[in-house]
Amino acid sequence: MSVPSDSLARGAVDEDTPVGERWLQMRQEEAGRPLQQVWRDGLPRPGPGQVRIRVSCCGVCRTDLHVVDGELAWPGHGLVPGHEIVGTVSALGPGVSGFKPGDRVGVPWLGWACGKCPACSRGQENLCPDAKFTGWQLEGGFAQYAVADTRYVFALPEGYDDQSAAPLLCAGLIGWRAYVMAGPRARRIGIYGFGAAAHLITQVAVHQRREIFAFTRPGDEAAQALAHKVGACWTGGSNEAPPEALDAALLFAPVGELVPIALKAVRPGGTVVCAGIHMSDIPSFAYELLWGERRVVSVANLTRADGVDFLRVAGRLKLQVSTVHYPLAQANRALDDLRAGRFTGAAVLNCA
Ligand SMILES: [Zn+2]
Ligand SMILES: [Zn+2]
Repeated sequence: MSVPSDSLARGAVDEDTPVGERWLQMRQEEAGRPLQQVWRDGLPRPGPGQVRIRVSCCGVCRTDLHVVDGELAWPGHGLVPGHEIVGTVSALGPGVSGFKPGDRVGVPWLGWACGKCPACSRGQENLCPDAKFTGWQLEGGFAQYAVADTRYVFALPEGYDDQSAAPLLCAGLIGWRAYVMAGPRARRIGIYGFGAAAHLITQVAVHQRREIFAFTRPGDEAAQALAHKVGACWTGGSNEAPPEALDAALLFAPVGELVPIALKAVRPGGTVVCAGIHMSDIPSFAYELLWGERRVVSVANLTRADGVDFLRVAGRLKLQVSTVHYPLAQANRALDDLRAGRFTGAAVLNCA
């Protein structure tokens, strides 16, 4: 792995910070351990091309769970999760243009890519082998301050308060990339796992005159009620068959057993899109389920173009965002509740 530029260094302290300026980060020093409250002295200094952001709130995503549970590789140093960061610019690093203090901004999962490798050259920066991710290799937004490379910082659409904007930055973006991968001719789309991503992308799909079939854990009435509220035409348990064959299925639940189930639900030529960064093993299944030019594909990360496209759509549609709020210091509880499926919609930490 190549060494990233100095502009990636996070953690340098701003010498101009007033003495005694302390700020809170929720850090994990070892995989599988709870996050710890760490009070840092001195605000982080943005490097060249970076901004410092005073975090207002940060979404809690299933990927954060995979990170803290050690299902993704340990980055080799303590980490601060959180990659749905909403806040305001509080300082500019050298050479930054296009941002000024006070601007409201959002930071997504992809925090840096090399820009030179074959994947980046193809426009697939999401597949850059040296990519750095917010809240994993780069310190994330479970904190009162964060530093980010401005090339991966988005302006946020109006019409969303900070808490509603946070889930757009991953649930919305990854949902969008998965939805686009289902193809423009997919009219009947199944969604397995009806949480943060599903409730946002359902609204986009319904607006585009697609039909959404929502599959939840059997008996999860709260998730099914949310699905109906945002426009799903049918809801049921993941153990049920849809009333008609689907053109595509999006899997947001990280459950490998759902892949053959979803293949069974899609028509010949249909697509099953696995949208999570981690999934339990997919059990073996009869070739007959794949036969008929059905396809199984995965979605990996996001590109900046996805961000621009989706945030433009979100700005136009004014999506309803269902959120549950936690104080920053209760990040562990928010993660536990997500793991246990104790809420519907999207969890957001209030960090200010
Ligand atoms: Zn690259
Ligand atoms: Zn995420």
